[in-house]
Amino acid sequence: MQELTHYINGAHVKGTSGRFSDVFNPATGEVQARCPLASAEELAEAVAAAQAAQPAWAATNPQRRARVMMEFVRLLNRDMDKLAEALSREHGKTLPDARGDVQRGLEVVEYCIGAPQMLKGEFTDSAGPGIDMYSMRQPLGVTAGITPFNFPAMIPMWMFAPALACGNAFILKPSERDPSVPLMLAELMEEAGLPKGLLQVVNGDKVAVDAILDHPVIQSIGFVGSTPIAEYIYGRGCSNGKRVQCFGGAKNHMIVMPDADMDQAADALVGAGYGAAGERCMAISVAVPVGDETADRLIEKLVPRIEKLKVGPYTAGNDVDYGPVVTAEAKARILGLVESGIAQGADLVVDGRDFSLQGYESGFFVGPHLFDRVTPDMDIYRQEIFGPVLSTVRAGSYEEALKLAMDHEYGNGTAIFTRDGDAARDFAHRINIGMVGINVPIPVPLAYHTFGGWKKSGFGDLNQHGPDAFKFYTRTKTVTARWPSGIKDGGEFNFKAMD
Ligand code: NAD
Repeated sequence: MQELTHYINGAHVKGTSGRFSDVFNPATGEVQARCPLASAEELAEAVAAAQAAQPAWAATNPQRRARVMMEFVRLLNRDMDKLAEALSREHGKTLPDARGDVQRGLEVVEYCIGAPQMLKGEFTDSAGPGIDMYSMRQPLGVTAGITPFNFPAMIPMWMFAPALACGNAFILKPSERDPSVPLMLAELMEEAGLPKGLLQVVNGDKVAVDAILDHPVIQSIGFVGSTPIAEYIYGRGCSNGKRVQCFGGAKNHMIVMPDADMDQAADALVGAGYGAAGERCMAISVAVPVGDETADRLIEKLVPRIEKLKVGPYTAGNDVDYGPVVTAEAKARILGLVESGIAQGADLVVDGRDFSLQGYESGFFVGPHLFDRVTPDMDIYRQEIFGPVLSTVRAGSYEEALKLAMDHEYGNGTAIFTRDGDAARDFAHRINIGMVGINVPIPVPLAYHTFGGWKKSGFGDLNQHGPDAFKFYTRTKTVTARWPSGIKDGGEFNFKAMD
């Protein structure tokens, strides 16, 4: 059995806590590795190494730091297939989807090559007599990130690329369910020229997370994962005086207007609802057709498409639409929610409960499910299912559809499908959700825009990547300077406006 490591101060280090968790191959159900779960002492070792390495990195000019990012991009492209294979093996997603996971992280690294431009300060010449005023963006010091299982390449890169480009050290605590790719990324960053100690991977669970939350040297924490943990980390991290941003769960609605192109809407729903087995925070999990006639047409288009979905292991390459879910517990939870939907009165139009794949009977596969006539009081509507289960809630009018999405506690992403520019514009303007698609089902912003949800999907006031990342990973210092020629008149005792 393979025993995974931490990556501390430039070396793979065995776990010393004596605690491990199992890493599965979700396609076969077999345990393929053991992941060490760090103690607070192991985390403290990483912090000490980061603290020692960071000042010299902060003093390295930003262009040189950016060149490390440039080389890292080349190495990511070189190793793309290797990374994707390792990712699919632990996560279960298809190989093309795993490449997308790496690619969407790589794009943020590319954006960070422009860090010198983003880190420039502001300057006011002659803000007062003989006085210049300027601000600079300085790194925070030692920063940390805690990431979820569903994007083991992309989300770590969204955090560590801007953190490092800004001159910080970064400690990554990835998901213990698929820790191999994060370890590979740390090695590749060093191959790209990053000095040791600046990007470290400490594997673990709540013990490691609590150690991060309480360590006085760690200045900032980025978290992506489920909402209850996001709320916990935000509260405890902030009360410990750290800068914290947390991104949580989702329940993304797609409004289908009567004038929408129904084939386009159905294709979009199938991809966005079932891709990656629904294990995406930007997956569409609720379809909201406006009017019964729209709903009937939509269901009619959806059913054959869903019945044709190919579910299988990543080793089948391009021949599968989605793979298994991440663990047996995740599978049991999803199927439990399906049962609750039936018990609470929703119509199960496509039933994937009996799905099984020959040769992979122990894999964590879940067949696709489609519910119609779901109502807002049902558990399948209120909870994030994070599986291949799409719910349809019929709305009587556009206003009712809008209100439904607005009243849900989550506010990550949403979409509207329509040919009417007025409706689309009104929706984008009024909706209280962070990322909106207009005839685009998964509106994940590109690297140079920012990513973040509202309501219970996001905590903190800055988003991920884009210009916000450079604000999150730096702090502003403002200098007011007057050179000796101006200091001739003795002390000033009043708080003065500049003349
Ligand atoms: P999770 O909350 O279970 O785990 C996330 C991280 O928190 C992991 O590193 C885990 O080790 C750690 N953790 C788990 N339990 C903890 C505890 N009790 N105390 C401290 N730390 C703990 O989430 P997950 O299952 O890995 O990921 C799926 C969730 O992430 C979904 O809810 C999904 O919507 C969300 N997600 C959100 C976004 C976003 O940008 N909003 C992106 C991806 C995933």
